[in-house]
This record gives sequence, structure tokens and C-alpha cells, in this order.
Amino acid sequence: MIRIDIATLVFFYILFSVIAILVVWAILGYRRMRGVSGSVDNADFIWKCSICFHDYIDSLHDDISICPLCGSYNKRESLKN
Ligand SMILES: [Zn+2]
Repeated sequence: MIRIDIATLVFFYILFSVIAILVVWAILGYRRMRGVSGSVDNADFIWKCSICFHDYIDSLHDDISICPLCGSYNKRESLKN
């Protein structure tokens, strides 16, 4: 068995916690920065299904979204018209 003293254990625990927080913070900042640099309003999240023409909101996906009504995949270009 590997012997690790408590100080080393606490050090690595804090180290990995800080790394995890930094990664989450960087991802959130990156997503927010992309949202600001594009169009500011919520029109980026509004999708129009190309099959059933159902309007819905999907803020989780950027390029391809799934229509909640008919389940078909929609690409980003379908929003612009
Ligand atoms: Zn649909």
C-alpha cells in the first residue's frame, strides 16, 4: 500500500479542487464571451424546426439542436430565415 501523509493528501485535494473550479470558470467565461461577441439578445437560443416549423428555445446547443416536438435535428442555418 502506498503511504501518503495527511499534508500531502490535503495538498492534492486542494490542488485538484482549484483546478476543477478554474476549468468550470474558464468554460463558463468562454461561453459567456462567445454569447456577447455574437448577437447580444436571446435570438441565438430561438430555434425554428425545419420539419414541423415549431419554435422553441435551446440554449445548450450551438450548431445542431433537436426539436422537442418532432425530434428532428436542426442546423444553425435554419434560424436565419
Ligand atoms: Zn420539429
